[in-house]
Amino acid sequence: MPYTVRNLTDFSTEALDSAVSELLSGLEQESAAVGSENDWKAFRDRWIARKNGIFTQLNELWLKAAPGPNKRDVGRRVNELKPQIEQAVNATYARLVSGALFKGRSVGRARVPDSAQDSPVPHRDESERLDITLPGIRRPIGAEHPVIKTMNEMIGVFRNLGYSVEEGPEIETDFYNFEALNFPPNHPARDTQDTLFIAGQESRPMRDRLLLRTHTSPVQIRTMQKIKPPVRVVCPGKVHRNDALDATHSPIFHQIEGLAVDTNITFCDLKGTLDHAMKAMFGSSVKTRFYPSFFPFTEPSADVQISCIFCDGKGARDGAPCRNCKASGWIELLGCGMVDPNVYGFVDYDPAKVSGFAFGMGVERIAILKYGVDDIQLFFQGDVRFLEQFL
Ligand SMILES: [Zn+2]
Repeated sequence: MPYTVRNLTDFSTEALDSAVSELLSGLEQESAAVGSENDWKAFRDRWIARKNGIFTQLNELWLKAAPGPNKRDVGRRVNELKPQIEQAVNATYARLVSGALFKGRSVGRARVPDSAQDSPVPHRDESERLDITLPGIRRPIGAEHPVIKTMNEMIGVFRNLGYSVEEGPEIETDFYNFEALNFPPNHPARDTQDTLFIAGQESRPMRDRLLLRTHTSPVQIRTMQKIKPPVRVVCPGKVHRNDALDATHSPIFHQIEGLAVDTNITFCDLKGTLDHAMKAMFGSSVKTRFYPSFFPFTEPSADVQISCIFCDGKGARDGAPCRNCKASGWIELLGCGMVDPNVYGFVDYDPAKVSGFAFGMGVERIAILKYGVDDIQLFFQGDVRFLEQFL
């Protein structure tokens, strides 16, 4: 007995549950009965043909018939059924094709109807007719991951300032990741970037040992080895640290670093550039401030804070202390500084002639602030319900 859409008069939860399960079991039975391509076409048309397919009938017999207060609930159920029906139609076809492949080599060979030999006009039976009004098989459209989206926005800001993009390997040597960035062997600053080393390299000299890069700074060294000043680059990419997973830390995350080297570049240029970039990302009312800090490859170094975007820098919201900035009105966002002259020695630049600045920021950290996400792990779990919110 083929399924027919019931006229609904009772719109209670129980009645809807039963109508939906009746429909789904009808769908399953009819899918199981499909044994040929023609069967499948009929099955597809019966369920998803725009004109009078079963899904279309749901709109008429369920949604339009529902009284006002029930419309929302009925609409939600009808919306949920749509992908389920499409999925069943697609899966039935996939089963048919894989079944046919196993059966032998007849697949793909043109079938000549017997009647074609004696009939001057090729004859097609009704079920083979192509109905171009039928909806196609929909594939969900992909979208940029929020981390990549944020990264591209950030890159866009710096592209507009004349920066180009450079990328480099994720497996680096100790030399590029640490030594050339002024982290000598056994320097305590290395402990702040505990990393993952590739095993079995004890026989190699320290500087040649391979590790997963802890920052994208090695790309800056590689770029300076490749081109002479003036240099203006941003280096986006994935980095790794030996950190335990929690709401704000992940052993894998993304960074964007920037480097500008030229004659007469000063700390003022650095401040102006980053102030502009933060305003471009978070809105023109955002303020920045610079705090002394330490990084081995910059001198002087600074941490940059932006005025809290949740409480407008007031430190309080709705009469309560702001949680996002711990009531301080400021949020720490990135590190920066003037390139340490020692670094130029590793890349054959003359520190007497050039100066420059570098900065780096975590992309997830920015995405978390921008989108109000409360757990960094959500970015890596691949849960479509989370990701769909960024379409
Ligand atoms: Zn705040």
